[in-house]
Amino acid sequence: MTSTASDSADFIIVGGGIAGLRAASALAPAGRVVILTKAESSESNTGYAQGGIAAAMGPGDSMDLHVADTLAAGAGLCDESAVRVLVNDGPRYVRELIEWGARFDRTASGALLFGLEAAHSVHRILHAGDATGREISRAMWERVVALSTVRVVNHALVTDVLVEGGVVAGIRYVEGEGVLRDLRAPRVLLATGGAGQVFGETTNPAVATGDGIALAYRAGARVADLEFVQFHPTALSLVGAPRFLISEALRGEGAKLVNSQGEAFMRRYDSAGDLAPRDVVARGIVREVEATGGPVFLTLQHLDPDRVRARFPTIAEMCRRAGIDIARDRIPVGPAAHYMMGGIDTDEWGRTSVAGLFAAGETACTGVHGANRLASNSLLEGLVFGARAGEAMQQSAAAAPLKADRVPVPAVAAIAPQPEALAAGGIRDLMWRAAGLFRTRERLAGAVARLDAACAAALLDVRERAGSDAAVWRQCNLATVALLVARAALRREESRGGHFRADFPARDDLHFRVHLVESQSPSPTLE
Ligand SMILES: Cc1cc2nc3c(=O)[nH]c(=O)nc-3n(C[C@H](O)[C@H](O)[C@H](O)COP(=O)(O)OP(=O)(O)OC[C@H]3O[C@@H](n4cnc5c(N)ncnc54)[C@H](O)[C@@H]3O)c2cc1C
Repeated sequence: MTSTASDSADFIIVGGGIAGLRAASALAPAGRVVILTKAESSESNTGYAQGGIAAAMGPGDSMDLHVADTLAAGAGLCDESAVRVLVNDGPRYVRELIEWGARFDRTASGALLFGLEAAHSVHRILHAGDATGREISRAMWERVVALSTVRVVNHALVTDVLVEGGVVAGIRYVEGEGVLRDLRAPRVLLATGGAGQVFGETTNPAVATGDGIALAYRAGARVADLEFVQFHPTALSLVGAPRFLISEALRGEGAKLVNSQGEAFMRRYDSAGDLAPRDVVARGIVREVEATGGPVFLTLQHLDPDRVRARFPTIAEMCRRAGIDIARDRIPVGPAAHYMMGGIDTDEWGRTSVAGLFAAGETACTGVHGANRLASNSLLEGLVFGARAGEAMQQSAAAAPLKADRVPVPAVAAIAPQPEALAAGGIRDLMWRAAGLFRTRERLAGAVARLDAACAAALLDVRERAGSDAAVWRQCNLATVALLVARAALRREESRGGHFRADFPARDDLHFRVHLVESQSPSPTLE
């Protein structure tokens, strides 16, 4: 349990998903790069991505169409300029991925095949079977480990961003389960991925605990839009089985949602039916379960069985292990936390509000998703903004300025909380119940009080154990992220995109067409 002499690098990247790896490739020619991941290299949300990556490259598509679809999904809160960067730069970086060896599905004549997903107006999704993320991750890791200036440290849980005199000086991490180390560098990129594990039901792997958000917040950086969580409507819903994602691409290929009587029901909730936006479908499923008292299923029984199994081999295999033949049986499904639209507030170059600290990928909030993410735009975001953060890290340490439509969330509780320990499972259950698909003031206020106390208890625990116990840090990060999400959800008294308040079911542009930001440093003023 000792802190060793500190090591140094020119650039530190926390995270080995699509954003971290693309940034590493940009930074390798400029100096010594260290990538830290908290598990195996392959464990990341990127590795589990199924459906594909969106890019306006196919027939009948255009930049304007992709921008329009992204803005429509974002429900009035996208940063249009960031969306244009995403969409315009996307095809260039996807072509580069192909040059690096990523193999996407093609027609017999060799042309790229584009899939359709909900809320996209044209076929736009490049895919590699139903395991697109695994293929992208493979190609990127192969490239990055071959770069002589890049060092990779796996099983390293980063616990702190070191800030000296308001400027980043490096990071602290726990190696294995007990050795605390410092790694010094003037530029740090947080590319730590999603936060699905903050909720009791999630499609995300165990590593997705939102650590980057907690790290940035403790370092004094601004976080934004954390109330916007996307709940995927169709995770496998079987007692004892993990909530494996049943991709939207199945509905894109014609799969139908049916209730326990076999009736297709989604048109009762939205005219777009099974391909309505994810939050609408997720709430439709919960309401249908309440109305009928029975489960909801996805069925592909009306489609060609050989084609179904060939197009979705990974999903077919996962379901087979749970005793389900996807071509012949109905698949029981239900909603689960899937994607975090909010995160560490950044500009279009990944700069945060702390000089020298950058963020990219799912942990960042660039504003491209607004209140709801368009399916398959997140891999693209990691790729494009990972590259841009890498470029910016070579050039400048300046912090991002505050944008005009940012409104601070009150950060300080009125009464100092009495520390109350809450186990990780308790936090996840609480978040699923209070900050899940149907939110209310009463439930959120109760959750905020308990999470405030849990955060205080976790921080005490970290201090008492001198910070070298990885399990205590995990708990501390989980409690911090849960508190920030619940507090933002309580503050937003309207419904928009992924955020649904049962007590404020309408969208309120007059008061809430703004981003809620929070930071530990003195509250920023409105410009
Ligand atoms: C099941 C599933 C299916 C999806 N399908 C799609 C899809 O089809 N298309 C699409 O666009 N998006 C999809 N997504 C979302 C997409 O995969 C993610 O948004 C994206 O991959 C995030 O990439 P990232 O680089 O930001 O982070 P990740 O890929 O999650 O990588 C995070 C990295 O950070 C490391 N890390 C985290 N915390 C720490 C710490 N404290 N210390 C050290 N290292 C740390 C992890 O070890 C990991 O290496 C899907 C997500 C899931 C879960």
